[in-house]
Amino acid sequence: MLSNHYIGRFAPSPTGPLHLGSLYAALASYLHARANQGKWLLRIDDIDSPREVSGAVNSICHALETHGLQWDDSIDYQSHHLDEYQNVIDTLIKKDLVYPCFCSRKTLSAATSSVYSKTCLDRTHSPDLPYALRIKSTPLSTLFYDELQGSQDSSFVDDHGDFIIKRKDNITAYQLAVVIDDHRHKISHVVRGYDLLNSTPKQIFLQNLLSYTAPQYCHFPVIIDLQGNKLSKQKCAPAVSSENPQSNLFLLLKLLQQNPPKELQKSSVKEIINWGVDHWQPKRLKKIRAISNKIY
Ligand code: GLU
Repeated sequence: MLSNHYIGRFAPSPTGPLHLGSLYAALASYLHARANQGKWLLRIDDIDSPREVSGAVNSICHALETHGLQWDDSIDYQSHHLDEYQNVIDTLIKKDLVYPCFCSRKTLSAATSSVYSKTCLDRTHSPDLPYALRIKSTPLSTLFYDELQGSQDSSFVDDHGDFIIKRKDNITAYQLAVVIDDHRHKISHVVRGYDLLNSTPKQIFLQNLLSYTAPQYCHFPVIIDLQGNKLSKQKCAPAVSSENPQSNLFLLLKLLQQNPPKELQKSSVKEIINWGVDHWQPKRLKKIRAISNKIY
């Protein structure tokens, strides 16, 4: 029976097929949801249309299904919610919680700190120039407890500052879109890779401003290659093959430190997934930030 309080999700960006690292993220959030009798939703983060790769959505869905990761309900697409994002942005503008930023990418990358220096905070608006919208950061508490990484506190203003919620190219920024999506779906648990841990205070900050309930967070280690880089499309991680899903799942369970028994390799996809759900022990990943793909 599905629990009516746990709603999890996997939210890939359709910038290419799933690679081992993204399949690992899907499997971790799936096992966490199912072990808690939860729902597991699939959302396609396709708001960044210039980065979208044609055919990626189909190939992602095919890879998930071949690996036994069946989602609940129909797939949701960020691109179907553009008006909703704009309404929230309009509310933030009306409440004077954002300001336009005209800084060029060049100026920003030359800055010594990744935290924005508020150059545009008091600048007069030049309506003919393209601009991004930045949130006015305030010292609101964004303290949260991460199920695997423990208590996370930061000085919001010093560590995150006035971050972008709408990009210069008019696209709603990931930080805001994800908060609106998680709220719409009543997501109770966000289970994702350690690389997104630094985004969480920004998302909690926005949830506070918008009076949304914050989900529980669980950031599990990412898979890295021999050079210490996270497996990613940018680093040309190869697409996962659907020819032998059993061996992919077996390797992923090992990378998730679940110690699957050798015999499981000969089982069907369904049996491997069921074993994973029945034996799911996320605590084995506690405080680990990265796991090398080459150790198995
Ligand atoms: N779409 C994001 C990504 O592929 C993940 C969003 C999230 O899990 O919050 O990195």
